[in-house]
Amino acid sequence: MSIKNLGTTNSILVVLPSLSVYCECNTPFLFKTKKIFSGVFNMKEFQKKIDNMFGHRDKKRDFHKNFAWFVEEVGELSKAIRIDNRENEKEEFADVLAWLFSLANARNIDLEEVFLQKYHKFCSKCGNNPCKCIKY
Ligand SMILES: [Mg+2]
Ligand SMILES: [Zn+2]
Repeated sequence: MSIKNLGTTNSILVVLPSLSVYCECNTPFLFKTKKIFSGVFNMKEFQKKIDNMFGHRDKKRDFHKNFAWFVEEVGELSKAIRIDNRENEKEEFADVLAWLFSLANARNIDLEEVFLQKYHKFCSKCGNNPCKCIKY
């Protein structure tokens, strides 16, 4: 999966040359078609897409179990970075992002809205862009 910044504030181009989907039993299904989908999404659309794809399952599950799953994906990302497995790292970034959107859906939080509120132009602490915070 590659994500290209188009230079706009909140649009990303998401291109999936191949897509691996994991079911509950963790079995990978690899679709080797040329391109599953491509297009330009804003965060709101992407959040809706994740809801359409996984919401029916994720919302039946206990929120805290889903949160634990999200943390597990963060752990998988951590390991991919630690062992320097670049291909796996890309996949785990996608997993973490998908779970983050799913958790936000369950909590009725619009990630685009809250993200833009906090990070749209300047650092929310020092008011500069680039950030000039001394302590962090
Ligand atoms: Mg993963
Ligand atoms: Zn700052």
